[in-house]
Amino acid sequence: MTHRLFASRRVCIASLAILALVSGSLVLVAAEWKSGKIWPEPLLVDPGTDGRPPSDAIVLFDGTDMSAWKGADQWEVKDGAVTVKGVSSTNLHYAETKQSFGDCQLHVEWAEPDVVKGSGQGRGNSGVYLMSRYEVQILDSYKNPTYYDGQCAAIYKQNPPLVNVCRKPGEWQTYDIIFEAPLFDDSGKLTKPGHVTVLQNGVLVQNHFQLEGGTFWDQPPHYTAHPAKAPLQLQDHGNPVKFRNIWIRELVPQTFTMSDKPASE
Ligand code: MG
Repeated sequence: MTHRLFASRRVCIASLAILALVSGSLVLVAAEWKSGKIWPEPLLVDPGTDGRPPSDAIVLFDGTDMSAWKGADQWEVKDGAVTVKGVSSTNLHYAETKQSFGDCQLHVEWAEPDVVKGSGQGRGNSGVYLMSRYEVQILDSYKNPTYYDGQCAAIYKQNPPLVNVCRKPGEWQTYDIIFEAPLFDDSGKLTKPGHVTVLQNGVLVQNHFQLEGGTFWDQPPHYTAHPAKAPLQLQDHGNPVKFRNIWIRELVPQTFTMSDKPASE
């Protein structure tokens, strides 16, 4: 009699091997499938507690100083946060990191001004500029209508957020951004577009969006070749937006080697 050791249909017949004929019966047993890939051991990372960054993160602002940044001399560090000290809403400035980044996981916390001023794009405007070119919009979009691909959590003028999960003015909010940088060949031709995933306050608002190029106010999106890494920027749009707890993790592709032994079939 044939013994069926695995009734589940999920068990692929290819993973069964004939072991032996036992007392005239055909016995099938599971054989482990192996890819043949040899992976390095994933690094141990302390995930942190109480909102602290993971142990392998590069801390860009811990509430004490903006020494990791340039162009933020006028921004005010106070009570564990830094406030944009805007110069002008028509003469935009940017604070940018001294270090450059490509593929990354980025965590940013911000709060819109608790005293509401202005409307539309003039209310609580700032932004996270990945590689100094690709803006994830920051705006006070709590009961503040504007064009959808320019509201908070939009990829500016390219894609609106999936939902509006903005908290009230003055309340702290979070962005967790996964960014895959675009790639260019030696001639400057785009070989792989960039992609952005954004969670705002823990809610998915951009799902692996394929960037159409740089984000501009006065031009359609387009790519211009740039280095593999570039500074991260925070926009000074003339509104006193606050930031705290900013950290970034550089993402390195996992690689493997193939075992001398072929993958099992
Ligand atoms: Mg902006």
